[in-house]
Amino acid sequence: MEENIITHNFSITQKERAQLKKHSPLLIWFTGLSGSGKSTIANALEKALFARGFHTYLLDGDNVRKGLNNNLSFSPEDRTENIRRIAEVANLMIDAGLVVIASFVSPYREDRENVKRIVGYENFVEIFVNTPIEECERRDVKGLYAKARAGEIENFTGVNAPYEAPMAPDVEINTTVVSVDEAVSLILRVIGKRIKI
Ligand code: ADP
Repeated sequence: MEENIITHNFSITQKERAQLKKHSPLLIWFTGLSGSGKSTIANALEKALFARGFHTYLLDGDNVRKGLNNNLSFSPEDRTENIRRIAEVANLMIDAGLVVIASFVSPYREDRENVKRIVGYENFVEIFVNTPIEECERRDVKGLYAKARAGEIENFTGVNAPYEAPMAPDVEINTTVVSVDEAVSLILRVIGKRIKI
């Protein structure tokens, strides 16, 4: 099928979109266990960027798993497909000129590598929210650890499914020692140069 898809030469380029928005696009990818603090920090980061005039969008389980990916389970194959589709959506948003913030457990290293390949390494920043599982489980924000321990959830990361930690994340945050505000400042410092044009 793909051989008959011929790219049209559209007039407006990614660079021109960035110039209009007065900043570069970027994908800021949060990975970590459920309850580690990804969405909390991602939300605070988006607020901080928005207040500074950046054009942002936040992708997370809620707005992706309920729509685009509502036919996918948490099996290893479906998790891979979940992340691949998110990466393709993020890639379009990068083309549109947005600073995209993505908050997903994304437990497999190879899936995260695939995201980098899809959007381009220069457009990707990896934030590893490295909160110890004991703390994530103590918080049990959604009551899912209790359910998983009771054997009611299959493939729950950290309990009965693996989490492969990033080898060289751009930022690593342990939320037992770093506050939400500190985490946002740290990330802003790291991405600052990359989103200015
Ligand atoms: P995830 O998106 O990784 O599943 P959430 O952000 O939904 O995690 O939940 C993390 C929980 O931890 C929230 O209830 C949040 O208020 C709490 N929390 C406590 N301290 C921090 C911190 N320093 N950074 C982020 N979250 C924190």
